[in-house]
Amino acid sequence: THFGFKQVPTSEKAKHVAEVFHSVASRYDLMNDLMSMGIHRFWKRFTLHNSNVRRGAKVLDIAGGTGDLTAKFADMVGSKGKVVLADINASMLNVGRDRLTDLGKSGNIEYVQANAETLPFPDNTFDCITIAFGLRNVTDKDKALRSMLRVLKPGGKLMVLEFSQPVSWLTPIYDTYSFKVLPALGKLFTNDAESYRYLAESIRMHPDQTSLKKMMEDAGFERVDFMNMSAGIVALHSGYKF
Ligand code: SAM
Repeated sequence: THFGFKQVPTSEKAKHVAEVFHSVASRYDLMNDLMSMGIHRFWKRFTLHNSNVRRGAKVLDIAGGTGDLTAKFADMVGSKGKVVLADINASMLNVGRDRLTDLGKSGNIEYVQANAETLPFPDNTFDCITIAFGLRNVTDKDKALRSMLRVLKPGGKLMVLEFSQPVSWLTPIYDTYSFKVLPALGKLFTNDAESYRYLAESIRMHPDQTSLKKMMEDAGFERVDFMNMSAGIVALHSGYKF
């Protein structure tokens, strides 16, 4: 398709992110369930519920990975709609495509290898854009947000599902979990503690709720708001293009 596109990561961060996701791709779904104790399913269901996506809509799932959101969106938009699963990482994209094909999802899904910073789509293409647990991996987040705004249709909605800053009483427990338990789980199940240490660090470095809201507003989104889930461990930000 004319969407076919290959991005070569350049920065050190991009290289590291590429290595992490190449190495975890085949175990990604199992680890997601283990690490979040299955709760990521709830966070995603809440996101889908808030998307207002209708039959016939065009949806872009950026950093779509193994395709949890894409699979559900494909049902929601129906045969007249379209869902594009975009991810920078060929290994994740392959696992996602195989998995969704096995689930019998096809016909209205397109797979595109693309960097969130330079989305290879025309202006005003999508009714809804999601990026779930992806933005914190992106090197230039402001550039990525501007790119999302560009390809969103006027009236369209962006939803960013991402780890955020938990309430203060939870911080000590959360720190122990992410810096001790997570890498240990990673080592046990994938023999790869390093990738999960990266995960914990990338979560700490990511802007908190109000900072991300401000970034979205600065990029040009309107009516930007967020909702905390699981005591702020995760937040769902949304904004519109008008
Ligand atoms: N959205 C899926 C989910 O919620 O299960 C996958 C999330 S996974 C933690 C993060 C994904 O972001 C990986 O598949 C990775 O390849 C992708 N990614 C990282 N940097 C990216 C970028 N600059 N542009 C697009 N995708 C990127």
